Amino acid sequence: MTAAHDCIFCKIINGDIPSFKVFEDDKTIAFMDINPVNPGHILVVPKAHASNIFEIAPDDWAACMVNAQKVAKAVQQVLAPDGINIMQANGTGAGQSVFHVHVHVMPRQSGDDLKMNREYIPGDMEEIAQLAEKITTALLEQ
Ligand code: 5GP
Ligand code: ZN
Repeated sequence: MTAAHDCIFCKIINGDIPSFKVFEDDKTIAFMDINPVNPGHILVVPKAHASNIFEIAPDDWAACMVNAQKVAKAVQQVLAPDGINIMQANGTGAGQSVFHVHVHVMPRQSGDDLKMNREYIPGDMEEIAQLAEKITTALLEQ
């Protein structure tokens, strides 16, 4: 795996900083977003460092999308949101803030008025931990 020196997601992948991991395979990892747009917001991340959609190897991107589908099904089962956005940002103008490519699985509620370039609002870590456990179980049952 390639890793970038100062990349927060590489540190999560290497276990140097903690995360609420819900899924892992040889090419990807999925963990809870700690500033969730709504409860159950998850990031699907390639293990090999790549900054954005232009750099990621096609097979790593394919693995991210296959696993975003799996994660979305588990989120739907556990939280039954009104909708889910699958989203990926490239560049600051598009709202990218972490330059290790990642796919957002964003549960949505009707009327939540989500903006694409949003401010981070830290979530309740206890709630995030509990949801991580439920979503991990739902993924194992797929
Ligand atoms: P972007 O703005 O690049 O599309 O998304 C970056 C995402 O990473 C944001 O939703 C943000 O909340 C999340 N994030 C930033 N730092 C951390 C972290 O240390 N741990 C976790 N789990 N998520 C993070
Ligand atoms: Zn990285």
